[in-house]
Amino acid sequence: MAHTDPRRSIPRTDHLLDLPEVITAGERLSQSTIRAIIVEAQKAARAGEIPVAEVVPTVIEHLSSRSASSLTPVLNATGIIVHTNLGRAPLSEPARRAVASAAGYVDVEMDLETGRRSKRGIGAKQAILRACPGADDALIVNNGGAALLLAVTALRGDKMSGNDGSAGASDASVAGEIIVSRGELIEIGAGFRLPDLMATTGSRIREVGMTNRTHLDDYAEAITDRTASLLKVHTSNFRVEGFTASVEIAALRELADDHELPLIADLGSGLFEPDPYLPDEPDIASALAAGADVVIVSGDKLLGGPQAGLILGRSDAVQRIAKHPLARAMRTDKLTLAAIEATVANTENPVQDALHIDVDRLRERSERLAGLVSGTVVAHDGRVGGGGAPGVPLPGWAVEMPEELARPLRLGNPAVVARVHQGRCLIDLRCVPEADDDLVGEAVNRARGNHA
Ligand SMILES: *Cc1c(COP(=O)(O)O)cnc(C)c1O
Repeated sequence: MAHTDPRRSIPRTDHLLDLPEVITAGERLSQSTIRAIIVEAQKAARAGEIPVAEVVPTVIEHLSSRSASSLTPVLNATGIIVHTNLGRAPLSEPARRAVASAAGYVDVEMDLETGRRSKRGIGAKQAILRACPGADDALIVNNGGAALLLAVTALRGDKMSGNDGSAGASDASVAGEIIVSRGELIEIGAGFRLPDLMATTGSRIREVGMTNRTHLDDYAEAITDRTASLLKVHTSNFRVEGFTASVEIAALRELADDHELPLIADLGSGLFEPDPYLPDEPDIASALAAGADVVIVSGDKLLGGPQAGLILGRSDAVQRIAKHPLARAMRTDKLTLAAIEATVANTENPVQDALHIDVDRLRERSERLAGLVSGTVVAHDGRVGGGGAPGVPLPGWAVEMPEELARPLRLGNPAVVARVHQGRCLIDLRCVPEADDDLVGEAVNRARGNHA
């Protein structure tokens, strides 16, 4: 009999919208998301898939497990600091707060004193220049790839008359050749190759030297009146060992001066100064001191900031790049500007902490975790990862667990991503904030419980 059908007592939408849990969820989720969750639970009850009494708990549970974004925060227990698949650098607390406070209206292009338009991103630029006194000027764009594209496009040899950085932008015949060593033609990420990137602006790459060895003469012999610039690229994701030779920036500077050519150095990662932990990783100060007109680095590698590309160097060169029409298409947003400024104003951030971690302390933490989860502490090398210090091990420790735990750990809440290696699940706390160690322990025990 229809009137006793319990499905007729399915809670109504307005009743569900008035639940305190639903009202609170409104601070995080859009009304359309909330309504969709409600309709889904009502439909499931109508179809007899859940009892009517479960509608309210189902709605509450679905609301609490849903975040506004589909991105899931994870604890990085891989020991890989700049983990590309996990979003590269985690932002520092000051940078996170700066992003949150820039999220609304901000004076990114207004002088509040006069109420007039001001230059965009002045604060971020000044913070970069304070961190890097060797640079006269700086420009921030969306990522390192964009910075490189823009620099090679805008700096096309002072000899190329009439080229003010914009006139020839669409004319391939004046785009000229960029001279780069064959050993430095890198693929920066799956399928993205620097030469292809640069070819999109009509520039041609003139490869010189051999894969393992390139000499100054190789560059010198390749220079013609079509040459637009000299480019030095750090091989940031691989290492050639054995019989090798490459030409330093200082030697290229002399050659560039002889021929009045711009010298661009793509460093990949962004150390402001040399780091004794990473002796082969180039730094901005040294590259500028050696004579690069501009250097290019990513914001979210060793610099520890948001995704961005930084161009630093001589003011005439940086200004020419900033004025190129392409620069507008690569402009960073206010959130990035806020995060960069907060990042470079501090020398500490989670990337630097993980790189310079106290290894004895890491061992103590690992032993404590091993005790909580009945695991074994083993020696384990961390890595810089994602475009920095290839092949350089960062000695440390990990807790070894059975391989089968890796998947339930990834799918747990919080999600924990451990390293799966040679049939083992290795939990490396190097990149885990110490305050979260217990969360990792609880997650492991839950994953084991679910798995058993
Ligand atoms: C990482 C890297 C890039 C690309 O930078 P993104 O910020 O990832 O766009 C370019 N060149 C080198 C040498 C790199 O290491």
